[in-house]
This record gives sequence, structure tokens and C-alpha cells, in this order.
Amino acid sequence: MRLRLGIRVHRVDRAGAGWELTLAGDSIGAAHVVVATGPDAVPVIPSWPGMAGFSGTVIHAWQFRDVAEMAGLDVLVVGPGNSGVDLLGHLARSDAGQLWLSARSGMNITPLRLGGVPLHPVSVLGRYLPLRWQDANARAVQRLAFGDLTRLGYPRSAPGAFTRAAADGVTVAVDDGFVRALKAGRVTMKSAIDRFDGPQVCFTDGTRCAPDAVICATGYRPGLEQIAGHLVALDALGMPPFTGACSSPAHPGLWFFGLDRSIYGNMHVRRRQARQLAQAIRQQPPASASSSDRSASARSGD
Ligand SMILES: Cc1cc2nc3c(=O)[nH]c(=O)nc-3n(C[C@H](O)[C@H](O)[C@H](O)COP(=O)(O)OP(=O)(O)OC[C@H]3O[C@@H](n4cnc5c(N)ncnc54)[C@H](O)[C@@H]3O)c2cc1C
Repeated sequence: MRLRLGIRVHRVDRAGAGWELTLAGDSIGAAHVVVATGPDAVPVIPSWPGMAGFSGTVIHAWQFRDVAEMAGLDVLVVGPGNSGVDLLGHLARSDAGQLWLSARSGMNITPLRLGGVPLHPVSVLGRYLPLRWQDANARAVQRLAFGDLTRLGYPRSAPGAFTRAAADGVTVAVDDGFVRALKAGRVTMKSAIDRFDGPQVCFTDGTRCAPDAVICATGYRPGLEQIAGHLVALDALGMPPFTGACSSPAHPGLWFFGLDRSIYGNMHVRRRQARQLAQAIRQQPPASASSSDRSASARSGD
């Protein structure tokens, strides 16, 4: 095996019986290609009206490095998912000034443990139950651990934790100090952002705040458009139509890996999926090139 590190693959194209990977000024030919570029490759920052004129700082959660950088600053975190809730757990214990959390919709949240029992292995054990039972368990755990968070402005999620993860890949947020901070008044809930107005952020419920920094914990996309968007139809979340040991007869030798989201955790599911993928590759001899493959490859100039 030859490792070539620190090299960006710009595009994958059919080339004869195999595939060609376009690099900067170079290319690699291969019988099989496994695209494992990660589901979180491209940070997403929404564009709100008036944002360009905002006098404070706007960053994405991936740019956040150290709570010390926020000392003395009033901070608005946008997005009540795992990143937002985790950030606020840390910021609440720091010298940051006022803290707000803007939530567009409700979010499921869970403690790491309940009565000393770690919940992640329990959720994995329950994976063969119908989704609505898993949702009901998660709701009961949330209620037992935190009580009624809607009284503090934390919106109730309409879909349950497992249904939501299956629908759009957003997993349940894991609490690490956020709920304590919310209950203590250290964090104040806000509704969705409507627009920016000079130094202020205006929310859909008509309220405003004037943060020094806005941290967008607003998620990521896989960013497969350039690499493989011309080969397969990506879904609304930017995910490919097949992944793991599944392939398409139209694209023999092209595989995607890790490009589906699992609420049960990567360590748990990827090891098994990797073995299945290796076996599928062994069983699939490289296909011979079809004329359409050849012309596609000729069209692309490769
Ligand atoms: C804030 C945060 C917290 C998370 N917490 C958890 C958690 O607690 N538990 C859990 O199970 N999961 C967690 N996840 C999800 C988990 O990190 C990802 O699902 C996991 O990293 C995916 O692994 P991967 O190898 O598929 O992709 P990545 O780890 O993203 O690796 C992809 C690799 O491909 C490279 N690459 C990308 N594009 C190209 C290209 N064009 N050419 C060449 N190389 C390229 C990248 O540089 C990178 O090295 C978290 C994610 C985030 C963002």
C-alpha cells in the first residue's frame, strides 16, 4: 500500500474499466475508489439579512478554539445541536459575558449518564426497537434528567431523537453543563434570528440582543458536489445515494464510506461497515469499460 498524504482530490471520473482521481496537476488511476471525505467537510453559515453590516464578530463553531478568547465578551451561539450545547457548556464555566442560545426549532437533549448508567451503550442495545419506542425512551430520559425545559424557553422537539436522526442526520445533543447554565440563568434562550441590525441581532419573536460575537453552530455538509456530484445524485443533505458495502451497477468500483449518519456512534457502526465494504470490494471484480463510460471519460477531458 502506498500512502499519499496532504493531497486534495478534486474530482473522480470514470476512466476505462476503472477510475481516475484528479489531483492538483496530477492524477491517480484506480480500479476501486472509496470516497470517505467525511460528512462534516464544509461548515455551513446561514446568510441573514443585514449580516454584512454587523459590527461584532461572526464565526463558525469549527473556528472556535479557546474559551479564553471570549473572556469579557457577550456571545450569541446559534444552533441548539451538539456543537452549540457543548460550546455553551464550556462558555458558561468561563469568563465570557452574557450568553444567549438561538434555536430555530426544538432539539432533543440527553445527559451522558442517568443514575450513573452511561446512556450510549443503552441506546445501542435498543437499536432494534421500533423508532417510536426509542423516541419514547429518549423523551423519558430527557424529562427525568432535566425536567420541563420548555419553561426556560428551550423548545420541545416535535420529532423524537431517533426519528430526527433518521430523517436529517441531526443527532441528539449531549449535555455537558449547558442545562445547569440554562437553569441558573447563565444562558438565555432566543428564537430564530430574523436579521442583523447594526450592532444588534433581531429575533423572530421581536426581541433583540447586542452580542460582541456570534458563533454559528449551524452544522456542516459533506461537500461532495465537486468530487462526485457529476456521478451520482446527492440528496438534499448532500449525501450520496449509496454508502458502505452498497454500490450501484452504474458505477462499479465507486464506493462511499462514512457518508451516512448514525446516532449509535461511529466507533460502533463503522468497524462492522468497514469489514463489509472490504468484502464487497474483494467480491466485485473491476468492470470492463462500456462505451458510454469511455465517452463520458473522453468528454471530461481525462
Ligand atoms: C463537533 C463534532 C463532534 C462530534 N462528536 C462525535 C462523537 O462524539 N461521536 C461520534 O461518533 N461522532 C462524532 N462526530 C462525528 C464524527 O466526527 C464524524 O462522523 C467522523 O469524523 C467521520 O469520520 P470520517 O473518517 O468519515 O471523516 P473525517 O474525520 O471528516 O475524515 C475525512 C478525511 O478526508 C479528508 N478529505 C476530505 N476531502 C478530501 C479531498 N477532496 N481530498 C483528499 N482528502 C480529503 C479530510 O482532510 C479528512 O482527513 C462529531 C462531529 C463534529 C463536527
